Amino acid sequence: MRILDGIYQLLTPFPQFTLEDAKKLRHELEEHPRVTKGLPYVLPYMIKDGGETVLVDCGWNTDSAYAALEAGMQEHGSHPSEISRLVITHVHPDHYGMAGRLKQHSSCNVMIHEKDAEVITDRYFAPKTLTDQMGRFMEMNGVPTMDTPAMSMGSMGMIGMVAAVPPDTQFQGGEILKVGQFEFEVIWTPGHSPGHICLYEPNHKILLTGDHILPTITPNVSIHAQTHGSPLGDYMRSLEKLVDLDVKWVLPAHEFDTKDLKKRIIEIEEHHIVRLDEMAKCVDRGGSTAWEVAGRVKWATGMLTDFEPFMQRAAVGETIAHLEYLFEVGRLAKVMRGKAMYWLPA
Ligand SMILES: [Zn+2]
Ligand SMILES: [Zn+2]
Repeated sequence: MRILDGIYQLLTPFPQFTLEDAKKLRHELEEHPRVTKGLPYVLPYMIKDGGETVLVDCGWNTDSAYAALEAGMQEHGSHPSEISRLVITHVHPDHYGMAGRLKQHSSCNVMIHEKDAEVITDRYFAPKTLTDQMGRFMEMNGVPTMDTPAMSMGSMGMIGMVAAVPPDTQFQGGEILKVGQFEFEVIWTPGHSPGHICLYEPNHKILLTGDHILPTITPNVSIHAQTHGSPLGDYMRSLEKLVDLDVKWVLPAHEFDTKDLKKRIIEIEEHHIVRLDEMAKCVDRGGSTAWEVAGRVKWATGMLTDFEPFMQRAAVGETIAHLEYLFEVGRLAKVMRGKAMYWLPA
């Protein structure tokens, strides 16, 4: 789909969806936003100007996602073999999965923020250590031992759908990517992942937001074995970085494109403020583990105990991110008892 001359929105389906179903959902969601179970597709963007073809994000490394990308590019007279630069907003498999395959087809320059480049080895080339770390991490957060192996293995099934490749260029934030008439500024927006970036084009007032800002859902901001510090604190600060930008087009990597950046940022901030209060209320006076808190919180998709292991892990990680933020602002304290971490009112 053409956004404006030179900027095109493409679509690649998630492994569980056909291209036809994903395209249908793309239109339905825009007209009637609702919570879907899982994400149906990724929206890569092709920037084509001045004789250059740049792709921002790609999709899972499946044959159907590649075929969808190829067909989408062909609609605008292009082909994946022409890609000169592949910019990845963050290294989650739905955005980065096909990078290795595209590099084989085009010898493109793969560009990723240095903080996400750091996790590629652990996540995709040596997942065994990560699995062990995750097991210990889950134990520390009160996840019952019986559930731990399934949860820590939760994301391993996806490794086959990622063609990982080390980046050729690592961003720090602040770089300008010139593509013909377009000048995209790389804005580092940590939170959803430590090296997440957004791309801002001030002359055309376009903001590519990746997973940082989506029109109806809030991205998972989570703590797991590989994260440090307070990702939710980072995420809230990253929203503030964007709130005053002059933007006419918000181009996210899921759901659909929108116009009103400021309104959406305020909505997301309010969502987290409500969520933080709710989480704080779920902490016992005598102390609770993150697992206990996650079990009491209301999730949009149901009860924690009914979730798939992978989603349970995401929910626990998201709970910890909120608890860590409450700790950062002085509302909660934390203490180790035996092998487990307990949170309690400050
Ligand atoms: Zn993501
Ligand atoms: Zn995503």
